[in-house]
Amino acid sequence: MLTVDGAQGEGGGQILRTALALSLCVNQPFRMINIRARRRRPGLQYQHLAAVHAAAQVSAANVSGATKDSLQLTFKPGRVVAGDYRIDIGTAGSTTLVLQTIMPALMLADSYSTVIIEGGTHNPMAPPFEFMQYALLPLLHRMGAGVRLELLRPGFAPAGGGLIKAGIDPTVALRPLNIDKRGRILQRRAEVLLANLPEHIAKRELAVIVRLMSLSDEDVHYKVDTRAAGPGNVVLIMIQSAALTECFSEFGKKGLPAERVAQRAVQAAKDYLQADVPIGRHLADQLLVFLALAGGGRFATMRPSLHTLTTIAVIQSFISIAIDQYQISDTSWQISFDH
Ligand code: AMP
Repeated sequence: MLTVDGAQGEGGGQILRTALALSLCVNQPFRMINIRARRRRPGLQYQHLAAVHAAAQVSAANVSGATKDSLQLTFKPGRVVAGDYRIDIGTAGSTTLVLQTIMPALMLADSYSTVIIEGGTHNPMAPPFEFMQYALLPLLHRMGAGVRLELLRPGFAPAGGGLIKAGIDPTVALRPLNIDKRGRILQRRAEVLLANLPEHIAKRELAVIVRLMSLSDEDVHYKVDTRAAGPGNVVLIMIQSAALTECFSEFGKKGLPAERVAQRAVQAAKDYLQADVPIGRHLADQLLVFLALAGGGRFATMRPSLHTLTTIAVIQSFISIAIDQYQISDTSWQISFDH
C-alpha cells in the first residue's frame, strides 16, 4: 500500500488533508505514518479527525487509526457519493480546511452535494472564509468548478460554533488554469470583522490600513457580528487585479495591539504587491491539488513555501504528473504542471 510520511517537508496537517483529498479523487488507499510529526502537538487533533471522518463519510471508507493523537492512519476509500453532508468538528478547528479535504472529490462526483461544517470559520494559520470566497473559489470557477460558499455564522477560536455551507456542483472536467501575470491593480480594500469586542478595535485597525496603504474611507469597512459565540477579530485586505483577487488576513489576539494586527496584514499585502506576481503564498499551495487534477496549467507566484514544496511531493505520490518550479525573477517563480 502507498505510504505517506507525515514527517516530510513541512510536517503538518496539510500532508494529511492533501493525501485524503487525492485518495478520494483517484481511489487510492494509503497508510500515513508520523502524522503531523513536526507540530508542537503531533498526531491527529480534532480538526484532522474531522477531516478523516468527512473523507470516510463521503466515500464509505475503511479507516483504522483515526483516534486523537494517533500518529498512524490507514485509509481505504470506497466510491465517492454526492449527497447532503453535515460535519461537526467539535472544536474551533478550521471548517475551510475540512471542506478543502472533501471538496475536490465532491466536485468530481456525479451529482450535486451540500456540505455544512460547524467549527471555526476564521482561524489563524488557516484560510478564512473570505479567502475562500474572494480568492480561491473564483479561480476554481474559471477551471469549470461550481462551488458556492455561505457563511451562516462566524466562529473564532477558542469558542468555535461557526457554520459554513457549501453547494458543490458536479464538474464534468476540470480545465487547466494558466495565470502568468497579475496585470493592473483595479481595487484595494479592507474589511474588519469583529465579534463581541469593542468597536474602537476595528476603527483603529482601519485607520492604520488607510494610512499605510493610502486608501480612502470608502475602501474600508467593518462589520460587527452578533451571532458569534465568543470574541474574535480579523483584518482582511483584498487586492483585485486584472487577473484575480488575492486576500490577506491577520487575527486579533489578546495582548497584541490592534495597530500591530493591521500592520501585519498590510505587510503581507505589500510583500505581495512588491513581488509583482498574481498568486500569493497561501493561494499557491491551495491551488496545487486542483491543477494536478486538471492535468495541467501554470502560475507565477512568490518563492514557494515549504507548504507548497511538501504538497507537490504528496501530489506526486498519488498522481503521475510533472510539476516544475523555477525562478523567473528576483521575486517570482513559476509552477507548472504537465502530464
Ligand atoms: P497546515 O499548517 O499544514 O495545517 O496548513 C495550513 C493551510 O492553511 C495551508 O494551506 C495554508 O496555505 C493555509 N493558510 C494559512 N494561513 C492562511 C491565510 N492567512 N490565508 C489563507 N490561507 C492560509
